[in-house]
Amino acid sequence: MHDHRKLGRELGLFDTDPLIGAGLPYWLPAGAIVRHSLEEYIRTVERQAGYQHVYSPVLGKRELYEISGHWAHYRDDMYPAMDLGGEQMVLRPSLCPHHALMYRARSHSYRELPLRMAELGAMYRSELSGVLGGLTRVRCIQLNDAHIFCTLDQVAEEVAGALALIGSAYRAMGISTERYRLSLPGASGKYVAAPDMWQQASKILCEVLDRSGVPYEAVEGEAAFYGPKIDVQVSDHAGRESTLSTIQVDFYQPEQFDLSYTGADGAKHRPVMVHRSIIGSVERAVAHLIEQHGGAFPAWLAPLQVAVLPIHEAERSAAIDLRDRCLAAGLRVQLIDAEAGSLAARVRETRLVPYQLILGPAETSNGEVAVRLRDGRRLPAQPMHAAVARIRALIESRDTRLWSE
Ligand SMILES: [Zn+2]
Repeated sequence: MHDHRKLGRELGLFDTDPLIGAGLPYWLPAGAIVRHSLEEYIRTVERQAGYQHVYSPVLGKRELYEISGHWAHYRDDMYPAMDLGGEQMVLRPSLCPHHALMYRARSHSYRELPLRMAELGAMYRSELSGVLGGLTRVRCIQLNDAHIFCTLDQVAEEVAGALALIGSAYRAMGISTERYRLSLPGASGKYVAAPDMWQQASKILCEVLDRSGVPYEAVEGEAAFYGPKIDVQVSDHAGRESTLSTIQVDFYQPEQFDLSYTGADGAKHRPVMVHRSIIGSVERAVAHLIEQHGGAFPAWLAPLQVAVLPIHEAERSAAIDLRDRCLAAGLRVQLIDAEAGSLAARVRETRLVPYQLILGPAETSNGEVAVRLRDGRRLPAQPMHAAVARIRALIESRDTRLWSE
């Protein structure tokens, strides 16, 4: 495994500036492409799974977090309140309270449930500067978040659905997990007191995990303050473990916010909230992708997907034609001319680019191209349009294989 901080700088993915502050990285163009591709993927699979996307503000009044329980149980990790004309405003430590209010703002029938509300939004954590570095410990987090408001009967299926989304996302990203953890409350006072609620929520998570067949271990003292959770753990280059994805079952916040839906019996009932994140924070997910792949991202995530390399100056116009075909196919492509160096040097320089399309005199006269893959494989010359169509299909299907017939 590689250190994502070192590679992030070398590959022009992200950086920091002391004047912006520690723990507040900015994304350079290549990193912004990786992030954008990841966000686009998440929005697509969530839409297909019946989620509706929303946007909500990154701050709220202190009272909001008093109701949600964050102020009492989570304040050490929150930014101090800002005084704004006599009102205390807080940078949000999570998105849940906003989503709970958005749910509450309209009346809901049981027919609308499960109601799946998703947002890729910012939240803030007052990490001490000593532990900051790179993308893994940041003070402003872009979270791939969602809250599912549902009946008690629907909880298990929603948790299983979220677990399946996590599994397919990890396959598409080509990343491996360290372990699945069932995070239960510990003895400390940071958890809300409601023994029945904890027991019921833990039992549901346990049953879903057992049915799914993934190996997991139960660990006490790692739950959220309002409920138990499934955590998907990954390890960094130094072997430090952290949580990427998470699924939580919450009976507490629906109570705190007095959430309800109208049942088939015409009476008001309390929904359950399932909090879930498929890839966790965008920062941590990208850090893990960098470390796992050493910068050689799966093609659909690669900042540059195709390098067009004419062997001589004479193939330049064919190379421009090929580049334009790639652009028209929606591929991220760069033409690197013969004058930039020998072919070997240019191949070396673009070694992290999944596809190198090489044009010599023989290929050019036949309207063909020689395809070289990042892993060193050389494919026989093939028609330009066929090569471009094949690459496009592999990328669109988010295949982690570089080639398939
Ligand atoms: Zn939440």
